[in-house]
Amino acid sequence: MVSHMPAIVVIGGGVIGTSVAHYLACKGAKVTLLEKGDLASGSSGACDGLIFIQSKKPGVHLQLALASLELYEELYKELPGHIEFKKSGGMVIFETDAEFEAMCGYIQDQQATGIDVSLLNTNQALKKEPYLSKHIKGATFFPLDAQVNPIALTLGFALSAKQNGARIITRTIVKGIKIQNNRVSSVQTDQGDFNTDVIINAAGANASEIAAMVGINIPITPRRGQIVVTQAVKPILKHCLISAKYIAAKYHPALAKEKGEGISMEQTQNGNLLLGSTREFAGFNKQNTPEGITRIIEQTTRIIPELKKLHVIRTFAGLRPYTPDSLPILGQVDHPKGFVMAAGHEGDGIALAPITGKLIAQMILTGKTDIPLDAFAVDRFQLQKETT
Ligand SMILES: Cc1cc2nc3c(=O)[nH]c(=O)nc-3n(C[C@H](O)[C@H](O)[C@H](O)COP(=O)(O)OP(=O)(O)OC[C@H]3O[C@@H](n4cnc5c(N)ncnc54)[C@H](O)[C@@H]3O)c2cc1C
Repeated sequence: MVSHMPAIVVIGGGVIGTSVAHYLACKGAKVTLLEKGDLASGSSGACDGLIFIQSKKPGVHLQLALASLELYEELYKELPGHIEFKKSGGMVIFETDAEFEAMCGYIQDQQATGIDVSLLNTNQALKKEPYLSKHIKGATFFPLDAQVNPIALTLGFALSAKQNGARIITRTIVKGIKIQNNRVSSVQTDQGDFNTDVIINAAGANASEIAAMVGINIPITPRRGQIVVTQAVKPILKHCLISAKYIAAKYHPALAKEKGEGISMEQTQNGNLLLGSTREFAGFNKQNTPEGITRIIEQTTRIIPELKKLHVIRTFAGLRPYTPDSLPILGQVDHPKGFVMAAGHEGDGIALAPITGKLIAQMILTGKTDIPLDAFAVDRFQLQKETT
Protein backbone atom coordinates (compact mmCIF):
# COMPACT_ATOMS: atom_id res chain seq x y z
CA MET A 1 0.00 0.00 0.00
CA VAL A 2 1.37 3.42 -1.02
CA SER A 3 1.31 6.06 1.73
CA HIS A 4 0.23 9.74 1.52
CA MET A 5 -2.25 9.08 -1.23
CA PRO A 6 -4.48 12.02 -2.15
CA ALA A 7 -8.26 11.63 -1.82
CA ILE A 8 -9.65 11.51 -5.36
CA VAL A 9 -13.23 11.94 -6.60
CA VAL A 10 -14.06 10.76 -10.12
CA ILE A 11 -17.22 12.31 -11.59
CA GLY A 12 -18.92 9.98 -14.07
CA GLY A 13 -19.48 6.23 -14.17
CA GLY A 14 -18.96 5.70 -17.90
CA VAL A 15 -16.09 3.82 -19.49
CA ILE A 16 -13.67 6.71 -18.91
CA GLY A 17 -14.49 7.35 -15.24
CA THR A 18 -14.45 3.66 -14.37
CA SER A 19 -11.17 3.11 -16.25
CA VAL A 20 -9.56 5.98 -14.34
CA ALA A 21 -10.94 4.56 -11.06
CA HIS A 22 -9.59 1.09 -11.96
CA TYR A 23 -6.05 2.26 -12.72
CA LEU A 24 -5.95 4.51 -9.65
CA ALA A 25 -7.38 1.93 -7.24
CA CYS A 26 -5.00 -0.76 -8.52
CA LYS A 27 -2.15 1.52 -7.38
CA GLY A 28 -3.67 1.87 -3.92
CA ALA A 29 -5.21 5.34 -4.37
CA LYS A 30 -8.21 6.46 -2.31
CA VAL A 31 -10.92 6.78 -4.94
CA THR A 32 -14.62 7.67 -4.80
CA LEU A 33 -16.57 7.53 -8.06
CA LEU A 34 -19.83 9.49 -8.25
CA GLU A 35 -22.41 8.70 -10.94
CA LYS A 36 -25.76 10.46 -11.29
CA GLY A 37 -27.59 7.43 -12.76
CA ASP A 38 -26.34 3.88 -13.10
CA LEU A 39 -22.93 2.77 -14.35
CA ALA A 40 -22.82 2.92 -18.18
CA SER A 41 -26.06 4.91 -18.30
CA GLY A 42 -24.45 7.51 -20.60
CA SER A 43 -22.75 7.10 -23.97
CA SER A 44 -20.82 4.03 -22.76
CA GLY A 45 -24.07 2.07 -22.55
CA ALA A 46 -25.43 3.30 -25.89
CA CYS A 47 -22.68 2.70 -28.40
CA ASP A 48 -20.85 0.20 -30.56
CA GLY A 49 -17.79 -1.61 -29.24
CA LEU A 50 -15.33 -0.97 -32.02
CA ILE A 51 -11.66 -0.63 -31.18
CA PHE A 52 -10.88 0.64 -34.65
CA ILE A 53 -7.23 1.55 -35.00
CA GLN A 54 -7.04 2.39 -38.70
CA SER A 55 -9.73 5.09 -38.37
CA LYS A 56 -7.55 7.18 -36.03
CA LYS A 57 -5.63 10.15 -37.39
CA PRO A 58 -1.89 9.46 -37.76
CA GLY A 59 -0.03 11.19 -34.91
CA VAL A 60 -0.99 11.40 -31.23
CA HIS A 61 -4.47 10.05 -31.88
CA LEU A 62 -3.12 6.84 -33.42
CA GLN A 63 -0.42 6.61 -30.75
CA LEU A 64 -3.10 6.62 -28.02
CA ALA A 65 -5.16 4.00 -29.84
CA LEU A 66 -2.22 1.63 -30.27
CA ALA A 67 -1.21 1.99 -26.63
CA SER A 68 -4.83 1.28 -25.62
CA LEU A 69 -4.97 -1.83 -27.78
CA GLU A 70 -1.91 -3.17 -25.99
CA LEU A 71 -3.62 -2.65 -22.63
CA TYR A 72 -6.69 -4.53 -23.87
CA GLU A 73 -4.52 -7.63 -24.20
CA GLU A 74 -4.01 -7.59 -20.40
CA LEU A 75 -7.44 -6.30 -19.40
CA TYR A 76 -9.14 -9.09 -21.28
CA LYS A 77 -7.58 -11.57 -18.87
CA GLU A 78 -7.51 -9.43 -15.71
CA LEU A 79 -10.88 -7.65 -15.47
CA PRO A 80 -13.75 -9.39 -13.69
CA GLY A 81 -16.44 -10.68 -16.07
CA HIS A 82 -16.14 -11.43 -19.77
CA ILE A 83 -15.55 -8.22 -21.76
CA GLU A 84 -15.90 -10.00 -25.12
CA PHE A 85 -12.66 -8.56 -26.49
CA LYS A 86 -11.87 -9.97 -29.93
CA LYS A 87 -9.28 -8.96 -32.52
CA SER A 88 -11.62 -9.52 -35.42
CA GLY A 89 -9.82 -7.23 -37.87
CA GLY A 90 -11.50 -4.27 -39.52
CA MET A 91 -12.36 -3.12 -43.02
CA VAL A 92 -13.16 0.31 -44.44
CA ILE A 93 -15.48 -0.12 -47.42
CA PHE A 94 -15.40 2.19 -50.49
CA GLU A 95 -18.44 2.52 -52.70
CA THR A 96 -17.14 5.04 -55.24
CA ASP A 97 -13.92 5.68 -57.17
CA ALA A 98 -13.60 9.07 -55.43
CA GLU A 99 -13.70 7.37 -52.01
CA PHE A 100 -11.14 4.85 -53.21
CA GLU A 101 -8.76 7.63 -54.25
CA ALA A 102 -9.31 9.63 -51.06
CA MET A 103 -8.63 6.56 -48.92
CA CYS A 104 -5.41 5.75 -50.82
CA GLY A 105 -3.87 8.97 -49.44
CA TYR A 106 -5.17 8.22 -45.94
CA ILE A 107 -3.67 4.72 -46.05
CA GLN A 108 -0.29 6.04 -47.18
CA ASP A 109 -0.21 8.21 -44.05
CA GLN A 110 -1.16 5.22 -41.90
CA GLN A 111 1.49 3.01 -43.51
CA ALA A 112 4.10 5.74 -43.04
CA THR A 113 3.49 5.53 -39.28
CA GLY A 114 4.07 1.77 -39.34
CA ILE A 115 0.43 0.64 -39.42
CA ASP A 116 0.14 -2.31 -41.73
CA VAL A 117 -3.14 -1.41 -43.46
CA SER A 118 -3.64 -3.20 -46.76
CA LEU A 119 -5.72 -2.19 -49.75
CA LEU A 120 -8.10 -4.80 -51.20
CA ASN A 121 -9.83 -4.80 -54.58
CA THR A 122 -13.48 -5.86 -54.86
CA ASN A 123 -12.71 -9.57 -55.22
CA GLN A 124 -10.24 -9.62 -52.33
CA ALA A 125 -12.74 -7.77 -50.12
CA LEU A 126 -15.52 -10.20 -51.06
CA LYS A 127 -13.26 -13.12 -50.22
CA LYS A 128 -12.85 -11.74 -46.69
CA GLU A 129 -16.52 -10.79 -46.29
CA PRO A 130 -18.66 -12.91 -48.64
CA TYR A 131 -21.90 -11.04 -47.81
CA LEU A 132 -20.58 -7.70 -49.12
CA SER A 133 -22.46 -6.31 -52.11
CA LYS A 134 -20.63 -6.72 -55.42
CA HIS A 135 -21.04 -3.02 -56.20
CA ILE A 136 -18.33 -2.00 -53.69
CA LYS A 137 -15.09 -0.69 -55.20
CA GLY A 138 -12.76 -2.19 -52.61
CA ALA A 139 -11.74 -1.92 -48.97
CA THR A 140 -8.85 -1.50 -46.61
CA PHE A 141 -8.01 -4.18 -44.09
CA PHE A 142 -6.19 -3.99 -40.76
CA PRO A 143 -5.88 -7.25 -38.79
CA LEU A 144 -5.51 -5.64 -35.34
CA ASP A 145 -8.82 -3.72 -35.32
CA ALA A 146 -10.87 -5.24 -32.52
CA GLN A 147 -14.18 -5.19 -30.71
CA VAL A 148 -15.40 -5.39 -27.12
CA ASN A 149 -18.67 -5.29 -25.17
CA PRO A 150 -18.70 -1.67 -23.85
CA ILE A 151 -21.14 -2.30 -21.01
CA ALA A 152 -19.24 -5.38 -19.78
CA LEU A 153 -16.04 -3.35 -20.03
CA THR A 154 -17.43 -0.46 -17.95
CA LEU A 155 -18.80 -2.85 -15.31
CA GLY A 156 -15.50 -4.79 -15.33
CA PHE A 157 -13.50 -1.61 -14.66
CA ALA A 158 -15.92 -0.57 -11.88
CA LEU A 159 -15.89 -3.97 -10.19
CA SER A 160 -12.10 -4.14 -10.35
CA ALA A 161 -11.86 -0.63 -8.85
CA LYS A 162 -14.22 -1.71 -6.08
CA GLN A 163 -12.26 -4.90 -5.39
CA ASN A 164 -9.18 -2.68 -5.03
CA GLY A 165 -10.84 -0.45 -2.45
CA ALA A 166 -12.65 2.25 -4.49
CA ARG A 167 -16.09 3.48 -3.45
CA ILE A 168 -18.53 3.41 -6.38
CA ILE A 169 -21.57 5.55 -5.60
CA THR A 170 -24.42 5.70 -8.11
CA ARG A 171 -27.67 7.76 -8.10
CA THR A 172 -25.71 10.76 -6.84
CA ILE A 173 -25.77 14.02 -8.80
CA VAL A 174 -22.82 16.40 -8.62
CA LYS A 175 -24.21 19.92 -8.14
CA GLY A 176 -21.18 22.05 -7.33
CA ILE A 177 -17.48 22.16 -6.47
CA LYS A 178 -15.88 24.09 -3.63
CA ILE A 179 -12.47 25.73 -4.08
CA GLN A 180 -10.21 26.86 -1.22
CA ASN A 181 -6.84 28.58 -1.62
CA ASN A 182 -6.87 27.96 -5.37
CA ARG A 183 -7.41 24.19 -4.84
CA VAL A 184 -10.49 22.01 -5.13
CA SER A 185 -11.67 21.06 -1.65
CA SER A 186 -15.01 19.28 -1.97
CA VAL A 187 -17.69 18.03 -4.33
CA GLN A 188 -21.28 18.96 -3.51
CA THR A 189 -23.97 16.45 -4.43
CA ASP A 190 -27.66 15.84 -3.78
CA GLN A 191 -26.48 13.22 -1.26
CA GLY A 192 -24.09 15.49 0.66
CA ASP A 193 -20.53 16.79 0.30
CA PHE A 194 -17.36 14.75 -0.41
CA ASN A 195 -14.06 16.29 0.71
CA THR A 196 -11.27 15.70 -1.77
CA ASP A 197 -7.80 16.73 -2.97
CA VAL A 198 -8.34 15.86 -6.62
CA ILE A 199 -11.42 15.85 -8.88
CA ILE A 200 -11.49 14.06 -12.21
CA ASN A 201 -14.07 15.31 -14.65
CA ALA A 202 -15.16 12.21 -16.58
CA ALA A 203 -18.74 13.34 -17.13
CA GLY A 204 -18.79 12.65 -20.89
CA ALA A 205 -21.20 14.90 -22.79
CA ASN A 206 -21.91 16.73 -19.49
CA ALA A 207 -18.24 17.55 -18.88
CA SER A 208 -18.73 21.23 -19.83
CA GLU A 209 -21.36 21.55 -17.08
CA ILE A 210 -18.90 20.16 -14.49
CA ALA A 211 -16.02 22.36 -15.76
CA ALA A 212 -18.28 25.41 -15.49
CA MET A 213 -18.58 24.65 -11.73
CA VAL A 214 -14.92 25.71 -11.41
CA GLY A 215 -15.24 28.57 -13.90
CA ILE A 216 -13.79 26.81 -16.93
CA ASN A 217 -15.38 27.02 -20.35
CA ILE A 218 -14.65 23.88 -22.43
CA PRO A 219 -15.95 23.07 -25.90
CA ILE A 220 -17.42 19.60 -25.26
CA THR A 221 -20.88 19.22 -26.79
CA PRO A 222 -23.18 16.22 -27.28
CA ARG A 223 -23.10 14.59 -30.74
CA ARG A 224 -25.95 12.13 -31.02
CA GLY A 225 -25.49 8.66 -32.50
CA GLN A 226 -28.40 6.36 -33.28
CA ILE A 227 -28.00 2.58 -33.56
CA VAL A 228 -30.18 -0.22 -34.96
CA VAL A 229 -29.94 -3.72 -33.42
CA THR A 230 -30.98 -6.84 -35.34
CA GLN A 231 -32.07 -10.24 -34.07
CA ALA A 232 -29.22 -12.64 -33.20
CA VAL A 233 -28.21 -14.76 -36.19
CA LYS A 234 -25.44 -17.13 -37.31
CA PRO A 235 -22.18 -15.34 -38.21
CA ILE A 236 -22.70 -12.96 -41.15
CA LEU A 237 -19.75 -10.66 -40.50
CA LYS A 238 -16.26 -11.87 -39.71
CA HIS A 239 -14.81 -8.37 -39.28
CA CYS A 240 -15.87 -4.93 -38.05
CA LEU A 241 -16.86 -2.75 -40.98
CA ILE A 242 -17.08 0.98 -41.50
CA SER A 243 -17.63 2.91 -44.70
CA ALA A 244 -15.18 5.45 -46.10
CA LYS A 245 -17.85 8.13 -45.54
CA TYR A 246 -17.71 7.36 -41.81
CA ILE A 247 -14.11 8.54 -41.61
CA ALA A 248 -14.88 11.71 -43.57
CA ALA A 249 -17.94 12.50 -41.42
CA LYS A 250 -16.14 11.81 -38.16
CA TYR A 251 -13.50 14.46 -38.71
CA HIS A 252 -15.46 16.92 -40.87
CA PRO A 253 -18.98 17.61 -39.53
CA ALA A 254 -19.79 19.80 -42.57
CA LEU A 255 -19.12 16.84 -44.89
CA ALA A 256 -21.44 14.67 -42.80
CA LYS A 257 -24.28 17.05 -43.57
CA GLU A 258 -23.51 17.21 -47.25
CA LYS A 259 -22.58 13.60 -48.08
CA GLY A 260 -24.06 11.50 -45.25
CA GLU A 261 -22.57 10.09 -42.08
CA GLY A 262 -21.31 6.73 -43.27
CA ILE A 263 -21.95 3.56 -41.33
CA SER A 264 -20.41 1.02 -38.99
CA MET A 265 -21.37 -2.63 -38.60
CA GLU A 266 -20.35 -5.28 -36.12
CA GLN A 267 -21.71 -8.61 -35.01
CA THR A 268 -21.67 -9.22 -31.28
CA GLN A 269 -20.63 -12.55 -29.74
CA ASN A 270 -24.32 -13.15 -29.11
CA GLY A 271 -25.04 -12.90 -32.86
CA ASN A 272 -26.88 -9.54 -32.90
CA LEU A 273 -25.74 -7.02 -35.48
CA LEU A 274 -25.17 -3.45 -34.33
CA LEU A 275 -25.79 -1.12 -37.26
CA GLY A 276 -24.83 2.47 -36.75
CA SER A 277 -24.71 5.30 -36.52
CA THR A 278 -25.78 8.88 -37.07
CA ARG A 279 -23.65 11.92 -36.15
CA GLU A 280 -25.98 14.76 -35.24
CA PHE A 281 -25.89 17.89 -33.12
CA ALA A 282 -29.29 17.73 -31.40
CA GLY A 283 -28.49 19.05 -27.93
CA PHE A 284 -29.15 16.54 -25.15
CA ASN A 285 -32.03 14.89 -27.06
CA LYS A 286 -31.42 11.12 -26.95
CA GLN A 287 -34.45 10.08 -28.98
CA ASN A 288 -34.27 7.99 -32.12
CA THR A 289 -35.73 9.56 -35.24
CA PRO A 290 -37.39 7.85 -38.23
CA GLU A 291 -34.97 9.73 -40.55
CA GLY A 292 -31.90 8.55 -38.63
CA ILE A 293 -33.03 4.92 -38.52
CA THR A 294 -33.97 5.00 -42.23
CA ARG A 295 -30.56 6.37 -43.21
CA ILE A 296 -28.77 3.62 -41.26
CA ILE A 297 -30.93 0.85 -42.73
CA GLU A 298 -30.61 2.18 -46.30
CA GLN A 299 -26.81 2.36 -46.15
CA THR A 300 -26.13 -0.89 -44.29
CA THR A 301 -28.46 -3.00 -46.46
CA ARG A 302 -26.88 -1.48 -49.57
CA ILE A 303 -23.46 -2.68 -48.41
CA ILE A 304 -24.65 -6.05 -46.96
CA PRO A 305 -27.92 -6.93 -48.81
CA GLU A 306 -28.35 -10.07 -46.63
CA LEU A 307 -29.35 -7.74 -43.77
CA LYS A 308 -32.72 -7.16 -45.48
CA LYS A 309 -33.75 -10.63 -44.28
CA LEU A 310 -33.23 -9.78 -40.59
CA HIS A 311 -35.63 -8.36 -38.02
CA VAL A 312 -34.80 -5.16 -36.18
CA ILE A 313 -35.30 -5.83 -32.47
CA ARG A 314 -34.53 -2.40 -31.05
CA THR A 315 -32.97 1.00 -31.61
CA PHE A 316 -31.20 3.35 -29.22
CA ALA A 317 -29.17 6.55 -29.20
CA GLY A 318 -26.25 7.91 -27.21
CA LEU A 319 -24.50 11.25 -26.87
CA ARG A 320 -20.85 11.31 -27.87
CA PRO A 321 -18.74 13.90 -26.02
CA TYR A 322 -17.62 15.90 -29.09
CA THR A 323 -14.65 18.28 -29.22
CA PRO A 324 -13.90 20.50 -32.25
CA ASP A 325 -10.57 18.76 -33.03
CA SER A 326 -11.78 15.20 -32.32
CA LEU A 327 -9.22 14.73 -29.55
CA PRO A 328 -10.07 14.27 -25.87
CA ILE A 329 -9.24 16.84 -23.19
CA LEU A 330 -6.89 15.23 -20.68
CA GLY A 331 -4.91 16.44 -17.72
CA GLN A 332 -4.68 18.99 -14.91
CA VAL A 333 -6.03 22.49 -15.68
CA ASP A 334 -4.11 25.63 -14.63
CA HIS A 335 -6.72 26.70 -12.14
CA PRO A 336 -7.97 25.43 -9.73
CA LYS A 337 -5.27 22.98 -8.68
CA GLY A 338 -6.52 19.44 -8.36
CA PHE A 339 -9.08 19.70 -11.18
CA VAL A 340 -8.31 17.12 -13.87
CA MET A 341 -10.04 16.61 -17.21
CA ALA A 342 -10.71 13.14 -18.69
CA ALA A 343 -13.44 13.75 -21.24
CA GLY A 344 -14.25 14.60 -24.86
CA HIS A 345 -13.46 11.26 -26.54
CA GLU A 346 -16.28 11.68 -29.08
CA GLY A 347 -16.61 8.41 -31.03
CA ASP A 348 -13.44 6.84 -29.61
CA GLY A 349 -14.07 6.50 -25.89
CA ILE A 350 -14.28 2.72 -25.92
CA ALA A 351 -11.10 2.39 -27.96
CA LEU A 352 -9.21 4.91 -25.82
CA ALA A 353 -10.59 4.12 -22.34
CA PRO A 354 -7.72 1.89 -21.11
CA ILE A 355 -4.91 4.28 -22.07
CA THR A 356 -6.88 7.27 -20.74
CA GLY A 357 -7.29 5.63 -17.34
CA LYS A 358 -3.64 4.59 -17.22
CA LEU A 359 -2.27 8.02 -18.20
CA ILE A 360 -4.52 9.97 -15.83
CA ALA A 361 -3.58 7.66 -12.94
CA GLN A 362 0.13 8.05 -13.78
CA MET A 363 -0.20 11.84 -13.94
CA ILE A 364 -1.90 12.05 -10.55
CA LEU A 365 0.24 9.53 -8.71
CA THR A 366 3.68 10.11 -10.22
CA GLY A 367 3.51 13.37 -12.21
CA LYS A 368 4.91 11.52 -15.24
CA THR A 369 3.07 9.84 -18.11
CA ASP A 370 4.14 7.24 -20.71
CA ILE A 371 2.69 9.50 -23.43
CA PRO A 372 2.90 13.29 -22.98
CA LEU A 373 -0.48 14.91 -22.36
CA ASP A 374 0.42 18.32 -23.87
CA ALA A 375 -1.51 17.71 -27.11
CA PHE A 376 -4.65 17.06 -25.04
CA ALA A 377 -4.48 20.10 -22.74
CA VAL A 378 -7.63 22.17 -22.38
CA ASP A 379 -5.79 25.43 -23.13
CA ARG A 380 -5.36 24.38 -26.78
CA PHE A 381 -8.83 25.86 -27.23
CA GLN A 382 -7.85 29.09 -25.42
CA LEU A 383 -11.27 29.31 -23.88
CA GLN A 384 -10.35 29.13 -20.22
CA LYS A 385 -12.02 31.84 -18.19
CA GLU A 386 -10.97 33.53 -15.00
CA THR A 387 -12.76 32.08 -11.98
CA THR A 388 -15.11 34.61 -10.54
C1 LIG B 1 -23.88 5.56 -31.40
C2 LIG B 1 -22.51 5.57 -30.79
C3 LIG B 1 -21.57 4.65 -31.24
C4 LIG B 1 -20.27 4.68 -30.69
N1 LIG B 1 -19.39 3.73 -31.08
C5 LIG B 1 -18.14 3.71 -30.54
C6 LIG B 1 -17.22 2.70 -30.93
O1 LIG B 1 -17.53 1.81 -31.71
N2 LIG B 1 -15.96 2.76 -30.41
C7 LIG B 1 -15.58 3.74 -29.52
O2 LIG B 1 -14.42 3.77 -29.12
N3 LIG B 1 -16.47 4.68 -29.10
C8 LIG B 1 -17.73 4.69 -29.59
N4 LIG B 1 -18.63 5.62 -29.21
C9 LIG B 1 -18.17 6.68 -28.28
C10 LIG B 1 -18.21 6.21 -26.85
O3 LIG B 1 -19.49 5.73 -26.53
C11 LIG B 1 -17.86 7.42 -25.95
O4 LIG B 1 -16.68 8.07 -26.40
C12 LIG B 1 -17.62 6.94 -24.51
O5 LIG B 1 -18.66 6.10 -24.09
C13 LIG B 1 -17.50 8.15 -23.60
O6 LIG B 1 -17.36 7.68 -22.29
P1 LIG B 1 -17.47 8.66 -21.04
O7 LIG B 1 -17.23 7.85 -19.84
O8 LIG B 1 -16.62 9.85 -21.32
O9 LIG B 1 -18.96 9.21 -21.12
P2 LIG B 1 -20.30 8.55 -20.59
O10 LIG B 1 -20.36 7.10 -20.86
O11 LIG B 1 -21.41 9.38 -21.15
O12 LIG B 1 -20.20 8.72 -19.02
C14 LIG B 1 -20.32 9.95 -18.37
C15 LIG B 1 -21.11 9.71 -17.12
O13 LIG B 1 -21.13 10.89 -16.34
C16 LIG B 1 -22.35 10.94 -15.64
N5 LIG B 1 -22.62 12.31 -15.21
C17 LIG B 1 -22.85 13.38 -15.99
N6 LIG B 1 -23.11 14.46 -15.24
C18 LIG B 1 -23.02 14.06 -13.95
C19 LIG B 1 -23.20 14.72 -12.71
N7 LIG B 1 -23.53 16.02 -12.63
N8 LIG B 1 -23.05 14.01 -11.57
C20 LIG B 1 -22.72 12.69 -11.62
N9 LIG B 1 -22.55 12.03 -12.77
C21 LIG B 1 -22.69 12.69 -13.93
C22 LIG B 1 -23.35 10.43 -16.69
O14 LIG B 1 -24.55 9.97 -16.09
C23 LIG B 1 -22.56 9.35 -17.40
O15 LIG B 1 -22.84 8.06 -16.91
C24 LIG B 1 -19.93 5.64 -29.71
C25 LIG B 1 -20.90 6.53 -29.25
C26 LIG B 1 -22.18 6.51 -29.77
C27 LIG B 1 -23.21 7.45 -29.24
